[in-house]
Amino acid sequence: MSIIWEAYRQLFRPKSTEKYPFGNREEVSLPDGFRGKMILNRESCIGCTLCEKDCPSGAIVIIVDAKGKRPTFFLDRCMFCGQCQESCPKKCISYSKEFENAAYDRKSLEVR
Ligand code: SF4
Ligand code: SF4
Repeated sequence: MSIIWEAYRQLFRPKSTEKYPFGNREEVSLPDGFRGKMILNRESCIGCTLCEKDCPSGAIVIIVDAKGKRPTFFLDRCMFCGQCQESCPKKCISYSKEFENAAYDRKSLEVR
């Protein structure tokens, strides 16, 4: 296909960019499988520590609480690679579509 034809074709395709952060935040379209702020199903977690061991950026620390060992995720270190979800034998890590995770204090970037 010639480059001229490709340029012509692109002129009539629907736009694929979003006016973020302008416009309505709810209208930003995110693809299936998008990895935003993670969600931990604490009830299913068995505290095996595999997620902490496999995280390539040291974004998970296992903390012992009343229910035993549970991971805490530090979003400021996370690169949203999905490895912890892959490694979890109980499938208790999932990702929301929340991508506006900037914050002034690190404490609010913890996910437990
Ligand atoms: S998504 Fe990747 S970087 Fe983030 S906590 Fe999981 S394994 Fe670590
Ligand atoms: S890998 Fe899954 S079950 Fe194991 S500690 Fe992490 S979240 Fe819990």
